[in-house]
Amino acid sequence: MLKTIKKTVTADKKYLISLLGKLVEIPTLSEPGLNYEKLVKVLEKECRSIGLKTRIIKVTDKKFINTLKEEFRSYPRYILMAYWNTGAKKTLHFNGHYDVVPASLGFSKNPFKLNIKGDKIMARGAADMKSGIVAMLGAVRALKKLKVKPAWNLEFSFVPDEEIGGYCGSGYICYKKIPKADVVIEGDGGGGNNLTVAHRGIVGFRVTVIGKAVHAALHTRGVNAFLKAVKIVNELEKFRKKIEKRKSKYWAKVPISKAATMMIGGLSGGGLKSNSVPDKFTFTIDRRVIPEESMKKARKEIIDLINKAVKKDGTFKVKIEASEATHSSISEDAPICKLLGGILEEYYGEKSRMLMTGGRLDSAFFSRVLKKPTLAFGVNGAKYHADDEYTTGKDIITATTVYAQLMCKGY
Ligand SMILES: [Zn+2]
Repeated sequence: MLKTIKKTVTADKKYLISLLGKLVEIPTLSEPGLNYEKLVKVLEKECRSIGLKTRIIKVTDKKFINTLKEEFRSYPRYILMAYWNTGAKKTLHFNGHYDVVPASLGFSKNPFKLNIKGDKIMARGAADMKSGIVAMLGAVRALKKLKVKPAWNLEFSFVPDEEIGGYCGSGYICYKKIPKADVVIEGDGGGGNNLTVAHRGIVGFRVTVIGKAVHAALHTRGVNAFLKAVKIVNELEKFRKKIEKRKSKYWAKVPISKAATMMIGGLSGGGLKSNSVPDKFTFTIDRRVIPEESMKKARKEIIDLINKAVKKDGTFKVKIEASEATHSSISEDAPICKLLGGILEEYYGEKSRMLMTGGRLDSAFFSRVLKKPTLAFGVNGAKYHADDEYTTGKDIITATTVYAQLMCKGY
């Protein structure tokens, strides 16, 4: 079956690339939320043309909209659901995000048009992850052509905002329990002969140190918020070395991707003037939390450490704001991992690898909120979020074929 599917998918390469072109040409920037409705309408038409039923969801719930930065709340959020109800017992859900990060300045050609060189396909969204959406639709098309009925009911969600945390996309449908999924395939996070079975969570902090401003000439009478922040940062750096010894059991391509990490000062600044003692200094902390750690504990450890430093000094105050995106993982022995791993093994003729990715994925909404087994597999690509992001025709064919085979096989 795998060979027949691959042949059918390969013969459809022109369609797959032209659909990717159509999606790439709509610059769906997650900040502020541009062209979302336009993309969803194009995608809906495409879904219908291959025989899927569709439903467009407009997010109007204030609780979710208010998670967006205030200046972006007037850009509506749209989610496209698509269905192939086969009457099967179980439902396999595919999730893909259609938003992209802004185009960096070093693209060799227009980032919102496919730049094809040999088999290489460059564009913003070519890898992350409009090609993943193409593979999902391509797989359905292949099965329809072959007149093969999937072993599952198929359900798809195409969502915005993954690049800014996903609350108005995957978050919305999971909190509202909209997917009827038994198992979820997240199309993000790379592909090839790899299954992504885990990703880290993030706790983000914004720490504002509050001192007292006086003229620089009389600086001993003030409280220098910058120097107090340095004190805190020194303590945090000591703690960082401890934290980063914590390693996940999952395998990762880059060793630091499987470690608990902390990065300080992604954003920092304060003060009013060079001749005035700074009364305020703000810095951020990015704490990556491995699945073996508790999100709550990771947050508390840092808050406690900062409060301790403040108490010890006794001359200044702090304001700590924290936000979090949880981690996600699935057992390597879960039936879906075995099933998809087996398909990859047959495809590549060698054992597939189960790994942990360095970035955050929407998977956590499906595994933690919807509480369904979720793993990530999509189209292989390179230069994510960078100049000349790319995938290849071969990689799109691989993911499309693997998806179609997975649709046919149940458990
Ligand atoms: Zn992505």
